[in-house]
This record gives sequence, C-alpha cells and structure tokens, in this order.
Amino acid sequence: MARYSAPRGMHDLLPSQAALWRRSEEAFRRVFLSFGYREIRTPVVEHAEVFSKSVGEATDILEKEVYSFRDRGGRLLVLRPEGTASVVRAFIEHLQSEPYPLRLFYLNLPMFRHDRPEAGRYRQFHQSGAEILGSDHPAADAETVILSLSLLQALGIGETEVLLNTLGCPECRPGFVQRLREFYAGKEELLCPDCRRRREQNPLRLLDCKEESCRELSRGAPSTSAFLCSGCREHYGRLRALLRSEGVAFREEPRLVRGLDYYTRTVFEVVHRERGVTLSLAGGGRYDGLAEILGGPPTPACGFALGTERVLSLLPPEKEEPPQVFVALGEGATEERAFAFARKIRARGVRAMAEVSGRSLRAQMRSAHRAQVPATVILREEGAVFRDMESGQQEEGTEEEIARRVVERFGC
Ligand code: AMP
Repeated sequence: MARYSAPRGMHDLLPSQAALWRRSEEAFRRVFLSFGYREIRTPVVEHAEVFSKSVGEATDILEKEVYSFRDRGGRLLVLRPEGTASVVRAFIEHLQSEPYPLRLFYLNLPMFRHDRPEAGRYRQFHQSGAEILGSDHPAADAETVILSLSLLQALGIGETEVLLNTLGCPECRPGFVQRLREFYAGKEELLCPDCRRRREQNPLRLLDCKEESCRELSRGAPSTSAFLCSGCREHYGRLRALLRSEGVAFREEPRLVRGLDYYTRTVFEVVHRERGVTLSLAGGGRYDGLAEILGGPPTPACGFALGTERVLSLLPPEKEEPPQVFVALGEGATEERAFAFARKIRARGVRAMAEVSGRSLRAQMRSAHRAQVPATVILREEGAVFRDMESGQQEEGTEEEIARRVVERFGC
C-alpha cells in the first residue's frame, strides 16, 4: 500500500487518462478561438478580497469552501475557487484599454473548494470557461450559452439541456427578495440548517437547495418572472428569442439561482441526463456589477464555466499515443550514439525513446515489447538493425540507412 495518498478530494491525472484530457483541451481551444475568444490564465492564488467582495459574504463558497492561508507577509490569500472573479480582477488590472467587448477564455484551470467530496464533486477540479466583458446586450448572454454547448458538441456530447432563469437586476431584485423573505417567514422549521442560516442574508439560495424538505417548500415559492422590471423582461425575452433562432433546447427553470451572489439577470446551467441521473456540466450567467465591486469601471459582462472532470466522465478513455521506436544498444554501441540517433529521428517527427538503463540487449528487447513499440532500432558497433516488432523481420544497414527507413515508416 502506498505510504501517502493524494489529499482527500484531489486526484492524480494518470498517463492512461491524459490522452483524453489532451484531446478535450485541443478541441476546446479550437472552439474558443473559432468564436474569437483570447486565452487568459490567472494565478492559482488570489487575494482573499477578490472573492470575499465578489462572491458575497454569505455564499457557501466563502462560508465553508475556500482554502485560505496567510503568506509570510501576513496577507490573506485563497486558492482560487472559481474563474470569473480572477478574470475580472485581471481585466481591471491589465485590459481596460482593450476594445470592447472583450472576449476571454480560460482552459482547464485548477479550482479548489473545500467541499464534502463525493462522486463528481472534488476539492481540486478543473474548469474551462469564457467571459464577455463590456456588453449588456442579450446577444452576449446568448453567445455564451451557444459557446458552452459548442464545446460539449466538439466532444460529441449531445444529450444536454440548458436550464435558464433570470434573477433580475438591482432595480427589481430587492422586491423579489423581500417577497421570498415573506414567503419563508414562519416556515423555518421546514428548512435544513444551512437554509435556516441563509434565510436572512441570502434568501435566493433557498430556492436551489438540494435537501428534499427545502425543495418541497421551494415549489410553492414566488418566481422572479412576476417581479422583473421592464428592462429585465425585455432582456430575457430577447435572449430566449436568440436561443430559439439558434435551435438551442432550453427549459425555463424559475428555481435556478446558482451559488454566487454576483449574478444579475441571466443565469443558466447545462445539464446532462442519463438513466435518471442529472449531471450539471456547466453554469454561468450575467454579472453586470462585478467589475465595479472589484474597484473597476462599470462593465456589464457575462460568462460561464464548464467542469472538466464531469464532462470527461461521460466519455470513454482515449488511446495513448505510444512511442514508435525504441533505440536499443547492441554490443559495442554507446549511449552517445543512441541519444544522437533518437534526436535525429525525433527531429523528423518520430516518437522515439532510447535505452537509459544500461541493460542487456535481451532485457532491452523485453521492455520494447512491453512498451508496445512497433519497431526497435538496435545500434551495433558498426551500423544498425531495424526490427519490426510484430513480424520479427530485421533489416541491417548503416545508421543513415536505418534512420531513413525509420523516417519513411513513421516520420512526417
Ligand atoms: P460553478 O463554478 O459552481 O458554477 O460550477 C460550474 C461547473 O463546474 C459545474 O457545472 C461542474 O461541472 C463543475 N464543478 C463545480 N464544482 C465542482 C466540484 N466540486 N467538483 C467537480 N466539478 C465541479
């Protein structure tokens, strides 16, 4: 048994899984670039205020889920629990002078939440996402929904549904929140302990609690649609029209609120349903007030994040790309020659590995078999041998001739 295991809720990405991660990353990058988005990578660590100001003091993320620590200078830092606040912080710091709207994406960045680990819920996980900064138009919201679906389609994941809601804006939301408070007043004993706590500070969160008793109760709760101001109603209507025109299957879900406080107007989630199990793959929405909260200029914006582990859990493992040639040392050959030979053929596009263990030729051939290379080159004191590992056929020649032979077969 291993003496140490990875920290709870955190996982090693093993070589057998890496090919699928690589392929999904390549596919996602292609899709993001095809929509005109530009890549951004923010640090894993941020100042705690970036999140305490943005996600809201009373959201679950801050209350229980953030990994925080003080650095040697005494500053409170956190391991990034989500991407949007960091991207907006970077926008304010570096990108304000860029032409609007600014379209940014991030690819497979690690996120950390000290949640109770369970299937599909980890303490370190990865998200890819996109943000459009500087547009308050519903077309921007629609584009982010369409983009999230395009990413999934690029991996062949089609059985998805978009859940859609609007949370109103600072003008109309307070009226709705007040109505929610009134609705839940006197029903405290029916709520789970978390919701009892949230009721005062963040009553919206009561709507999407997963506890059965809270869900039951929320079915009778008022929905935002009755409280929207005309601007929010128009925005929501135009968004739905745009999604319909693109053939996006969406379902309006008046209980959808999402975990973070900073959302305004649109919120959405992309879910996958299979055999009665609903898996949330991506979530996002509009966050018009966030840049200002973080000390930047007023910047309407929207975006989404998609969870890598959840998405890839729907796909079969991908075959790795094994090396094509093993460069073995026969009698009288030196490591210097093996390195030089491998370097030459790699430069021509061949995946080659050279012997580095000083083993007998027999042992080297055994390990070449185990590595499932289709060919081995055995360097001799003079010249070399090309061995086809499947047929066992061998060809002899000078090193140059054998290198040409290898490149002919495997090079590009
Ligand atoms: P959120 O940032 O909470 O809106 O989540 C966006 C997406 O990230 C979700 O739909 C999931 O796919 C993924 N996700 C969120 N939290 C976790 C977690 N603890 N473990 C794995 N994936 C997660």
